[in-house]
Amino acid sequence: MSNDTPHSARSTPHALIVLSAPSGAGKTTIAHEILARHPAEVIFSVSATTRAMRPGERDGIDYYFVSREKFEQLISEGALIEYESIFGNYYGTPNSEVERARQMGKSLLFDIDVKGGLSIRRQFPRESLLIFIAPPDMKTLEARLRARKTESESTVQRRLERAQMEMSMAGEYDYVVVNDDLERAIQEVEGIIFGHGRD
Ligand code: ADP
Ligand code: 5GP
Repeated sequence: MSNDTPHSARSTPHALIVLSAPSGAGKTTIAHEILARHPAEVIFSVSATTRAMRPGERDGIDYYFVSREKFEQLISEGALIEYESIFGNYYGTPNSEVERARQMGKSLLFDIDVKGGLSIRRQFPRESLLIFIAPPDMKTLEARLRARKTESESTVQRRLERAQMEMSMAGEYDYVVVNDDLERAIQEVEGIIFGHGRD
């Protein structure tokens, strides 16, 4: 007898599922929903970062919040699969996250930038699925970034400038999902993960 949900009965999701998007497009919101709806199949890849914690974030759950010294030690020890310097801070994926997912027999969901996503694909070409979350348009992206109220004016501007570069790389991804209506976008991402996984 199987206790699988209808989604997981269709196919096994890829082992490594990457969600990328310009900052403010909604990928963290979508990632949280995917994780909440599919706890038996998917866990979140907890990155290390040197950026400051936002209200509501938890160390070890949303990120491992570390000092620059600690991050540079992780780099020199070869403890990261990939890392980038973004908005003046380091962000990187610990090797141990992939190992943790393998041991649990679950898929690993990454919320990482486009360069990080392409690096994961280069290292794990057969196991990875890359989904790009796009905002409906740049004005909406800006409005969402400001509405989140987590950034100063200068970091909003930096995030909008970087958004252009990230949008230009969307074509490299396996799928592009426009986050217009949130529930519709979540269902599209679920369809991609569970409907087009590996048989
Ligand atoms: P990201 O992780 O891509 O930086 P977030 O998930 O933090 O983005 O979303 C940015 C802001 O936009 C948040 O305040 C979130 O609640 C809001 N948001 C996300 N998706 C939608 C949507 N489809 N419609 C309206 N607001 C949204
Ligand atoms: P934020 O500060 O909004 O949480 O994240 C900023 C950017 O860093 C986002 O595009 C996010 O996806 C990306 N990011 C978070 N963790 C990692 C990581 O481990 N590696 C890479 N390459 N990017 C990351």
